[in-house]
Amino acid sequence: MLSDSERSSTARVIPPARPRKLAKVPFVELADGRVQGVVSSGSDIERVYVSSVAAGSFEFACSTNNNRPCGGAHGMFCKHIRSLISEAVVQYGAERVARHLRVDVAEADAPSITAAMDQARPPQGDNTAAAPVFSRFLHHLAYLELPPTTAPLPEMQWFPPTRSVV
Ligand SMILES: [Zn+2]
Repeated sequence: MLSDSERSSTARVIPPARPRKLAKVPFVELADGRVQGVVSSGSDIERVYVSSVAAGSFEFACSTNNNRPCGGAHGMFCKHIRSLISEAVVQYGAERVARHLRVDVAEADAPSITAAMDQARPPQGDNTAAAPVFSRFLHHLAYLELPPTTAPLPEMQWFPPTRSVV
């Protein structure tokens, strides 16, 4: 169900393929040649992880919002990256996530996409992407707090309009 602000905004809201668990993975995007996003810590509500996996190489990174390395991401995907992939599949659909990551799977779903990447023994990358991803997440949150308006938001101009304006 759309809120009033979503209904009246000219910004295009793409409904997820299935309802998402926003509390667990509040932000996920297919961008910069990666699947990347923000994953809540299971134990500490104050802490979030910025996780990413690169297309093609599956190079992965995970660190906290304070740029501390994730203890679980050592030589293999941590649980945050696994949550990120499964929520990306919920948000964008498995086919699209597989295509974006350039994962070759017979049947696209979250477990087989993750398993195919595990098998490739992906390298661990550095956390240079974390800061821009986290700042986009904060930006994304800021939009949710904007008062309802029908005026176009300049930062949203690159999205195609939902209907032509005469
Ligand atoms: Zn992690």
